[in-house]
Amino acid sequence: MSKKILVTEPLMPSLDNFNNYLHEIWQNKWLTNNGSFHKRLEKKLADYLDVPNLSLFTNGTLALQTALQVLDIKGEVITTPYTFVATSTSLIWNNVKPVFVDIDPVWCNMDCDKIEEAITENTTAILPVHVYGNPCDNSKIQSIADKHGLKVIYDAAHAFGIKQNGQSILNWGDLSILSFHATKTFSTIEGGAIVCHDKATKKKIDLLKNFGFNGETEVIAAGINGKMNEVQAAYGLAALDIIDSAISQRKKISLLYQKQLAGINGIQMMPNPEGVDHNYSYFPIFVNQDKYGKSRDELYLHLKQNEVFGRRYFYPLLTDFEPFNQHPSDHLSIAKTMANQVICLPLHHNMKEEQVEYIVSLIKA
Ligand SMILES: *Cc1c(COP(=O)(O)O)cnc(C)c1O
Repeated sequence: MSKKILVTEPLMPSLDNFNNYLHEIWQNKWLTNNGSFHKRLEKKLADYLDVPNLSLFTNGTLALQTALQVLDIKGEVITTPYTFVATSTSLIWNNVKPVFVDIDPVWCNMDCDKIEEAITENTTAILPVHVYGNPCDNSKIQSIADKHGLKVIYDAAHAFGIKQNGQSILNWGDLSILSFHATKTFSTIEGGAIVCHDKATKKKIDLLKNFGFNGETEVIAAGINGKMNEVQAAYGLAALDIIDSAISQRKKISLLYQKQLAGINGIQMMPNPEGVDHNYSYFPIFVNQDKYGKSRDELYLHLKQNEVFGRRYFYPLLTDFEPFNQHPSDHLSIAKTMANQVICLPLHHNMKEEQVEYIVSLIKA
């Protein structure tokens, strides 16, 4: 096999569907600013995800930054170093100090038992990430937040459509943010959203993403331009038609990986979380060099030389990046270990079973 296998392929809707929508946009002559496709996608996504209110954004990062603004988050926020860089750079752009706590070694989510010791008089919120879509321990996080009067904002960029015990995990906390970037399971090319509980909050969010305008002639807050345009909303609407089949193909590929990789010495996989309807967005493996015989990077390069392009999500750890290297990291030993061992194997809706077999054969060789 010589064809490249990338870590992911973008979810692309049927051209016919998208084309019909484009014709409609050309007739409407309305390209952005809460147009009809924007409204339709907000409504359809809220229904699909089973959330009361959803506000679309240009991207997930602006959604997160606006979420911090709408809750007036200041001072310090407790978060995880094991995530995409935007989780914490959003805090810095809002003049908020990220305070990192270690992760748990099973799910790679923030270790809830480490949160309380990180709280100071300046702490205003907790910003956990559902890493790889595995749900955080919301009841623990919420009870700590309630006890100390903190807000909870979930970076749910990996958690599109995920339910626990039949309930959407996007309804947890004060706000959740989603990303619809081309590399994510559901895509609007670039895009994102904030999920919130009540209409009044949605109104505030909608106002902030439109410069702070309240009607035509009044600006009541220092807003930003975070609006999603009609072409991308139409792309998303068409992509929603194929999301279920995309997720079921991802599931098939994930289960095949699990079966075929079982029992390889030094290759650890994640367990399946109980009671969770997963979206199978990522397939992380963790390479234990002592047992496997090769280092993570040796395996990563071996795969790459054979046209298999895994990604080391999340390596390096945020605290190894320039903007965060002033932050102490001695207490982040589990996060460091996981970051040094992880490879996310290729996983997407177009993958074939033979490709899994090929990748597994390279890992076994
Ligand atoms: C993708 C991602 C983001 C950023 O979303 P964009 O839409 O690319 O701005 C934030 N947090 C996490 C965990 C992500 O994976």
